[in-house]
Amino acid sequence: MDKNFQGQVAIVTGGSTGLGKAIAESLGQLGAKVVIASRSEENLSKAKSDLKAKGIDVKVIQVDVRHPEQVERMVAQTLETYGRIDLLVNNAAGNFAVPAENLTVNGWNAVVGIVLNGTWYCSSAVGKVMLKQGKGSILNIIATYALSGAPGVVHSAAAKAGVLAMTRTLAVEWGSRGIRVNALAPGAMVTEAASKNLLFDSEEAKKKVIERIPVRRFAELDEIAKIACFLLSENAAYINGDVLTADGGACLPRGFMDLMESPQTV
Ligand code: NAP
Repeated sequence: MDKNFQGQVAIVTGGSTGLGKAIAESLGQLGAKVVIASRSEENLSKAKSDLKAKGIDVKVIQVDVRHPEQVERMVAQTLETYGRIDLLVNNAAGNFAVPAENLTVNGWNAVVGIVLNGTWYCSSAVGKVMLKQGKGSILNIIATYALSGAPGVVHSAAAKAGVLAMTRTLAVEWGSRGIRVNALAPGAMVTEAASKNLLFDSEEAKKKVIERIPVRRFAELDEIAKIACFLLSENAAYINGDVLTADGGACLPRGFMDLMESPQTV
């Protein structure tokens, strides 16, 4: 993958923290000119200086992907600076755990607004640029519960499932015009956001999660970032409309054989 993205321009939404920042770093290492786009000015400038210290010069754009006019501005500013957009990573998201019956309308709208609407606004605005270029690669970061559902995150699961349907639809509509659209479903990663909002807030909680993961560890951000780069790259030129799961086997059914008395347990 050495300098695979030389001369290409990438936008990573939610690229100032967590997985998005790791993907921005990997794309930068592989030669792309990277734009990171999210809301917090503080996080954007911290990410810019952290990445600069690693030799990667990113452009930052403050945007709330829930607002289509802000997304259009993000696209216009990127074109003004670089003249083209080759890669889009729809990574921005918000999430929190809540029993379905306690989820408020505001909570539903916030998560669906970022994940489903935001992914569409970005794909639509950047997609038009890519269609003119006759070339582009879009990657949507989803979660394994887009396929399975999961208790406690009805808003996020429904939104990510919508993004998966969007991925497959756009892959067919735009595939013949030089644009590939894929999804990546990472497993549990201990980012600051996941620790705060989901299950990984204590060592005991983390241990319980790890027991559910066949490879018995969380995903490293840079290993998921490398998979994202593969899907975006020409090495994956024949992969279109697919979802790649990278969760250490966590979403696979366990059946019930391990409940039987046996020297082998899983
Ligand atoms: P994270 O650090 O919170 O990343 C989310 C990013 O999205 C933040 O940088 C945030 O920045 C940005 N964002 C949120 N709302 C936005 C908005 N309205 N407009 C623009 N940007 C917005 O969380 P993460 O754990 O790295 O998650 C990254 C991706 O992986 C997400 O799509 C998540 O669903 C997915 N994922 C995570 C896990 C996990 O275990 N961590 C597992 C499966 C999938 P601002 O708040 O500054 O805008």
